[in-house]
Amino acid sequence: MSAVSVDPGVAPAAPVRAVVALGANLGDRGRTLQAAVRDLADAERVELLAVSAVLENPALKPDGLDASAPPYLNAVVLLRTGLAPLALLDVLLAVEQRHGRVRAEHWGDRTLDLDLIDYDGRVLDAPRLTLPHPRAHERDFVLVPWRQVDPDAVLPGYGRIDELPAAHPLGVGSDFGGTESGGTEFGIGPEGAP
Ligand code: ADP
Ligand code: MG
Repeated sequence: MSAVSVDPGVAPAAPVRAVVALGANLGDRGRTLQAAVRDLADAERVELLAVSAVLENPALKPDGLDASAPPYLNAVVLLRTGLAPLALLDVLLAVEQRHGRVRAEHWGDRTLDLDLIDYDGRVLDAPRLTLPHPRAHERDFVLVPWRQVDPDAVLPGYGRIDELPAAHPLGVGSDFGGTESGGTEFGIGPEGAP
């Protein structure tokens, strides 16, 4: 598979598909995720195509899973957008800001984190944006909900996401009561979806 790069500042000739991962481990996590999905749906030149279930996962720190940190709620959304990659990133950062992203004492804990996982299957290594997201291939909290909404998806440079190995068995051996698909499925659903 040959990687096709993208100019981060140039809008596509026609709308393209993008994949965004959402995570929250502080505050009212479910409400924050719902509000963030609604904000994305309302953003100019962004159309919401699909929203995964919300899964609970232990926090992943540089040294591995950290059961002492507040657990995350994670979800993935598929978008169609006419925005350039950097313009879409700016939308994500604005939504993070809007929901009062704060950092507590633990590394990485946050009220809301939005990562651009894939943009039109393109690759990019720019100062503010790396595509695909450099750690997506090893993050089950991204891959599991992504598979739910797009089982045939391909991660540029890594292949089909349904063939990538599980890196961290989610919810196993912890208080999180994992499901077969990994993580704990929450019933709050994608109320932000149209
Ligand atoms: P992380 O999500 O890795 O914990 P942060 O959310 O704090 O880290 O990092 C945010 C910065 O990462 C953004 O300011 C953005 O410029 C940069 N970045 C690079 N590539 C991406 C990407 N694919 N998605 C989101 N942010 C990215
Ligand atoms: Mg981020």
